[in-house]
This record gives sequence, structure tokens and C-alpha cells, in this order.
Amino acid sequence: MNYPTLDSVSYHELVAQIPTAQQLESQGSLQQELHEAALATARENFGREVYVRGVVEVSNFCRENCHYCGMRRSNRGLDRYRAEADALLRMLLDERPNCITDINIQAGEDPVAVREVVIPLVRSLKASTALGISVCLGTLSPELTRELQDAGASVYIIKFELANAALYRELEAPGTLEERTNHIRWLAAEGWAISSGFIAGLPGQGIEAALENFRLADSLPLVGCSVSPFIPGDATPLASSEPASLDLTLNCMAALRIMRPDWVIPAVSALNLAGPGSGYQRGLLAGANLCTINLTPERLREDYLLYRKDRFIMNEERILSAIQSVGCYPSSTSLAQRYERQLPRPELMTA
Ligand code: SF4
Repeated sequence: MNYPTLDSVSYHELVAQIPTAQQLESQGSLQQELHEAALATARENFGREVYVRGVVEVSNFCRENCHYCGMRRSNRGLDRYRAEADALLRMLLDERPNCITDINIQAGEDPVAVREVVIPLVRSLKASTALGISVCLGTLSPELTRELQDAGASVYIIKFELANAALYRELEAPGTLEERTNHIRWLAAEGWAISSGFIAGLPGQGIEAALENFRLADSLPLVGCSVSPFIPGDATPLASSEPASLDLTLNCMAALRIMRPDWVIPAVSALNLAGPGSGYQRGLLAGANLCTINLTPERLREDYLLYRKDRFIMNEERILSAIQSVGCYPSSTSLAQRYERQLPRPELMTA
């Protein structure tokens, strides 16, 4: 199978290259060819630079009820927390790793934490550091969203999770799919750089539904997109389901890289669960170009229950070693700076 390079076709043709089922299901030499094409595409567009951001998980309260997440509101067995903005600020000012250029402030969908923790933290970080500031906080009101932007955040991470509306409903993903995608378009029109994402290998998501994820991603005004392997979470209705295969997850990442050479694609920490030992590095070799160091205070981490309590934490040492092992180095440019130059096509901002 031949894959185009930026030299061989126009940028617009590459934008439209939705993968095939055969690519997503590939193994052996076909899979190797797919991953090599993705890696070559990443190198061509980003060189050997990998973005490195930190993440702080500031609240595990959530008003949503996604079946694939341990922080869903129906999980009454979870100790809920909201971190203190001042303590996080001190840690980020005094102890953050030198290699991070951006910080992502993440929480369940918890407007109280946004008001009490996130906005003050964003404001202080903006005033005293050059960090790019991303937030991943769910679907908030226009007022709260604009306050975040005024405080200094410029990147919004909001995954559409899955593109099949019926399955979306069945799994109680946030709101409705239509509301979610309309919110993404609204955020982009408000001037946010949007990184979205979807889950690979969800129960009930066949190959056709997997392909829908690509078509939807391509139709949205994004600057980046993640692929997370489905991991059956403790204390969720899907606890006894089969996890996503590493192969499918990596194939989705590689296909996404080829579909959108310009997007920033993270290597998510769950690759360590889908493929213990080498899953994370293989993500970087399938076209990912962003790593995230977890800076959530240790005593809070295990209650940020996306999957299970024994989390695999990507600390500074693990991230730097993974980047080095694939012959790359941390970028000195922040994601926020890159995104200032990478505005999405305006026609994608309206439904
Ligand atoms: S995935 Fe996000 S929105 Fe859904 S329950 Fe978990 S924290 Fe809440």
C-alpha cells in the first residue's frame, strides 16, 4: 500500500485522507508500513521535536455519568476532592520540570472547581510564567468559559469520545453527540485552539463505528486529537468488558497522523496499560508528538479514577526516557505558541 507524502500531494488532499477498515485492522507487514508512513509524516512536519506538557488533575467531582469512566457521578464509592489553588500554584512555580512548556488543568465536569480552583490558578500562572495554558473541563457555560479565556487559558481539550450517536447515548457520554460537537465548534469560534479525541475499542464499537470517529474528527475545527484505548475501569458498568487492543489503538493513531499531518497527537498514558512495556514508545513511533508529565499531588492521584486506582504515572524521568528512546527531544516551543499560528479552517466552525 502506498501512502502519500507532503511532497507528493497537496495539503488539501492529505486532509481528506480518511483511513480504511483494512488500515485500522492491519497487522504484520501492512501494519508496519502504516506506522512507518505515520512516523515519516510526523518527522516531516515536526522534526524530532516532541511537545512536553504537565497535567494537574484538580477535581474528581463530575456531574456526567460516562460508562467508561470511574469518576462518573453514580460511583458513590469514590472519595471526591478539589485541590487547593495556592498549593498547586506553589508546586508549579517551584517544582515543575524544566522540560514542560505548557500546563493542562484537568477535572471532571465540575463548575465549582472551575470557579474556585482553575480560574485563580490560570490567572496566577499567566501572570508569573510563560507556560501555555490548556484546560480540559468538559462542557461549561459561556460565561465560565469566557472567564477562563480572560484569565489566560487558550487551549481547550474536549474529546468527542465517540462518533456513533446511538452508542454515545447508550454509554451516557456527556450530553448528546450533537451538543458536544456544537460546543466544540462554538469554542473554536470563540478563539480557543481545540484538541479533541476519541476512544478506540469501546464495547459495541465495530470497525464501521471506528471509521466514523475519523470522519467526525476531520469535520471539526481542531488543532489536535488523541486516541485513547478503552480500558475497562473499576467501578464502572463496563468493568468486565474486553480492553481495546494495542494494535487497534496504534493503528488509529497512525491513521490519524496520516489523515492530519499538521495535528498534534498525544501519546496517552493509557498506552502503558494497553501495552505494558513498550506501548507508550510505540505510540511515539506511530506518529504521536506530545507527552504529558503527571504533576497531580501524589495524595490526590489515586482518586482521579479514570480506570483503576493503581495508575501508571508518567513522571518526568519516564517521559524523557521515552522521548530519548525514539531518537527525539523535548520542544522548546509551547503548544500554545504553535496553535497561535495554526488556526482551523473557518468553514468547520459551523455545524
Ligand atoms: S469521562 Fe469526563 S465527563 Fe465522563 S464521567 Fe469521566 S470525568 Fe466525567
